[in-house]
Amino acid sequence: MIVVKTRKALKKAIRGLRRQGKTVALVPTMGALHDGHVTLMRSAWKHADVVLVYIFVNPRQFGPNEDFDRYPRPWKKDVAICRAEGIDLLYAPSLEDVYPEGYGTNVSVEGMSEELDGAYRPGHFDGVATVLTKMFMRLQPDVALLGEKDYQQLQVVKKLVHDLDLPMKIIGVPTVREASGLARSSRNQYLNEEQKNAASTLYAAMKKAAETIRKGGDIQEALDVGKQALLSAGFKKIDYFELRDAVALAPITMLKKPARLLAAAYLGTTRLIDNIAVNPGRQRLK
Ligand code: AMP
Repeated sequence: MIVVKTRKALKKAIRGLRRQGKTVALVPTMGALHDGHVTLMRSAWKHADVVLVYIFVNPRQFGPNEDFDRYPRPWKKDVAICRAEGIDLLYAPSLEDVYPEGYGTNVSVEGMSEELDGAYRPGHFDGVATVLTKMFMRLQPDVALLGEKDYQQLQVVKKLVHDLDLPMKIIGVPTVREASGLARSSRNQYLNEEQKNAASTLYAAMKKAAETIRKGGDIQEALDVGKQALLSAGFKKIDYFELRDAVALAPITMLKKPARLLAAAYLGTTRLIDNIAVNPGRQRLK
């Protein structure tokens, strides 16, 4: 595995791969790698000859009171995971390399970035769209694999690639969960044991609401029951627990097309997000 930290070294490595005619898959990450990231890496081999991973904790997608400074950065462990997975190239640029002094361009995907997480984390999706645009230009992948765990992000990035005619494909990978149902996340390590137990209620409540809605139950009532279950389990603040159109993420009041139940809620100071599919006719929970 080649580990590159500078743009110059990256350019050389990418040129080499292109010269050999290899197709390239990219797995973008912020590090603190877990089974979710590993699943993206393993899926990537189905789509390209070589697999690149980048690790960059992107300050532009964190709000001023969020966890940028304390976000976990277990560099040695991350390198070992990438190596064990047979990753061809790991790119880990510095902050200055990505945003040199005087940097001033923002990429904004309108129509989807202001909703849900965007309403509670202003500028978050601009930060995501900006860093991914830069990384897509630098790494020139044929495909990039993103997790459904961050479903709104996945839809924003699909729209970004479509709107900007980027010559690449975005592939969504189903959410990897712990046995309890809790979606794997680098932020789960902020939770203590008690909170970890309570956290599994998020998936359980979403699953129950999704089943009720799928069977034709009242949507608002099902969502209210779900929210109540979260509060009873010890969640302190629920940012949203909503049913949306699965592609445009527009609010819906009837289940006619594939939908997505999306939720964000706090356990202590840790904000958890999750989502599941709610399809009319045939149930498909992930
Ligand atoms: P992050 O390092 O948190 O920015 O995540 C990097 C990528 O891994 C994103 O595309 C995430 O959606 C994806 N990811 C994170 N957790 C999971 C999970 N539990 N299952 C599947 N993909 C995930």
